[in-house]
Amino acid sequence: MPARATKRGNDRSPLSGTYDVLICGASFAGLAVARELAGSGAEVMVVDRYEIGERQTSACGIPTDWLRATGLIEAERQRFDSLLIHTAHGSRRYRLPWTFSTFDYRELCELLWRDCDARFETAKVHGRAAPANGDGAIAVETDRGALSSRLVVDALGWRRVLARGDGYQPPDAPLSRGLEVHPGGSSEDLEVWIDRRYVPAGYGWSFPASDEVRIGIGSFDPRFHIRETTELLAEDLGRDRAGYQGNWIPHKLRPATEGGVFFVGDSAGHCLPLTAEGIRTAFYFGIALGRELRGVIEGGQSRDRAAAEYTRFHDSHEWKFRWMLRVQRLLPRIPPRLVGRLIRTLGAKRAVDWSFGHYLRIAPPLPAAPSAHDQQGADQQQRDADQPLRAERNLV
Ligand SMILES: Cc1cc2nc3c(=O)[nH]c(=O)nc-3n(C[C@H](O)[C@H](O)[C@H](O)COP(=O)(O)OP(=O)(O)OC[C@H]3O[C@@H](n4cnc5c(N)ncnc54)[C@H](O)[C@@H]3O)c2cc1C
Repeated sequence: MPARATKRGNDRSPLSGTYDVLICGASFAGLAVARELAGSGAEVMVVDRYEIGERQTSACGIPTDWLRATGLIEAERQRFDSLLIHTAHGSRRYRLPWTFSTFDYRELCELLWRDCDARFETAKVHGRAAPANGDGAIAVETDRGALSSRLVVDALGWRRVLARGDGYQPPDAPLSRGLEVHPGGSSEDLEVWIDRRYVPAGYGWSFPASDEVRIGIGSFDPRFHIRETTELLAEDLGRDRAGYQGNWIPHKLRPATEGGVFFVGDSAGHCLPLTAEGIRTAFYFGIALGRELRGVIEGGQSRDRAAAEYTRFHDSHEWKFRWMLRVQRLLPRIPPRLVGRLIRTLGAKRAVDWSFGHYLRIAPPLPAAPSAHDQQGADQQQRDADQPLRAERNLV
């Protein structure tokens, strides 16, 4: 187990205060919002129960272009130009029209934070507190005291802590579940298993990241227990079962705002159904939300207007999420032999280019706000373009 860095004992002094923006959650979504606000002059407070980058929340796979667009390419660990899909009836390698990368969670979070000019404190958020005054500020109760702001962001993940309790709990809520192990080792291939031996509705994966391999199972059915089959997949691949990490994964959008609070990332259901890809969407919606909040800080728009604009943006993607959910529901109903045949047929170059192109455009790479490190990011992009793929820092 990694040493826990989060402040304890006397270091956990009481917290209070009112901020221009209060961001709860310091992972992908929360840090993306905070970074968009850098240089706006806003007093921004970010809180999380752990230190920034302390607890990895995923297999950390993302389209490479997203790392480039956000100036985060330094955190990349390995890059893939193909995806190997296994079914019970054969395997097929898909040549991807765009590359996919794995990255180091801690390093990526640190890079995001480097570009922020916010304040950070470790605190566990309990929920909303009664507002202290009538100026429209929203009070948030933490284990270290109450904080308040007129602009409060919930980037706390699927629990959506700052929403009014709506009984959204597994196994009845529309949540998938994911679990993975992180044994040391290396591999050349990005691999996926659509095989009912591992999970009746869902898929298994192996995401190498330079010196470790992230092997996991995602089940669309929250009632299916994935521990045994995660271990089975690791065993089948001849890997150790080290470093367990898992969570619930939302597969349905939830309202973008509620009671004056802005929701982003998993708290708004921004993780894509079917693939459970939620990092680039956390960035995508986080950048969009950060821009709306910046509009409020810089005086151009009201909080209500920002909420309306952000909601409009979020809602405009609803049909894409609905379609992905349809396919997620359809996949487990297809007989395994037919799945094998489909995977082989859909592996033709034109079909792969078409489907993966559409898939990327659900949340296409957005450049983050200009920052002091942008020039560095641009230089890195140029270097990326200049060098052949395989010559880069230990990349496959
Ligand atoms: C096993 C697994 C593998 C995955 N692999 C991938 C992948 O490879 N690629 C991909 O795109 N997606 C992947 N996902 C999905 C992805 O992890 C999520 O969609 C993504 O992390 C959402 O980002 P977020 O910032 O909204 O939430 P999170 O990353 O969940 O962050 C929430 C933050 O809030 C903090 N927090 C939570 N509750 C409290 C509280 N009460 N008080 C204070 N702080 C709190 C947490 O400490 C955390 O820092 C995976 C999911 C799982 C479970």
